[in-house]
Amino acid sequence: MLIFILCLLLIFLLYAFIPSYINKQKFFNKKHKNENAIYLTFDDGPSEYTEELLDLLKKYDVKASFFCVANFAKERPELIKKMQEEGHYIALHSLRHKNFMLQGVGQTKRDLEDSIKIMKELGVDIKYYRAPWGDTNFYLLQALKKKGLQLIYWHVMAEDWEGNTTKDVICQKLLSRTKGGDIICLHDGRGENEAPFRTIQALKMALPLFLEKGYEFKTIDEYEI
Ligand SMILES: [Zn+2]
Repeated sequence: MLIFILCLLLIFLLYAFIPSYINKQKFFNKKHKNENAIYLTFDDGPSEYTEELLDLLKKYDVKASFFCVANFAKERPELIKKMQEEGHYIALHSLRHKNFMLQGVGQTKRDLEDSIKIMKELGVDIKYYRAPWGDTNFYLLQALKKKGLQLIYWHVMAEDWEGNTTKDVICQKLLSRTKGGDIICLHDGRGENEAPFRTIQALKMALPLFLEKGYEFKTIDEYEI
């Protein structure tokens, strides 16, 4: 029994934990261009909050990148169209938001292929990918490389998914943590206690302040890896 458990643990370490960890650290440790741009990205949508977010971005003429969950995108094709029409960049955040560290080769392959297919049917050719929680596995990393998809992580999070945070805390975290060239990761879906609502309220305060500081918002396809 003990040997069986040790074997499972070893497989998990070699297949999921170690490749995922190394890849994540490689991205986090890499020095990026300290430019005047910031890259606003949204995960976990589209949702019932996305339309209000799109209207806010339009108000300030800010372009963002949306890492969509394919099954959610399938339910709200009108929002995908709106994102495209308003000049945002659409990328992929898996099929159903499951953790890849706990998925085998077959599940990972199906997740990746089905999600790319759904996005293609919605008129989106996927080039950039962010795994849920940034967690990957050995197969996913190889498959993304083979398909020519670029894996994107983030530099700034504001824990905007937390149920007990406030719009002021999110705004303050965004302003104090962000520097030129950073990728900011926020969420327009999922989260606790209507979290995306607070994210939008925080952005209502943060966007004009970022613009006042002279930052330019760019989309992820303009990011130099
Ligand atoms: Zn996510």
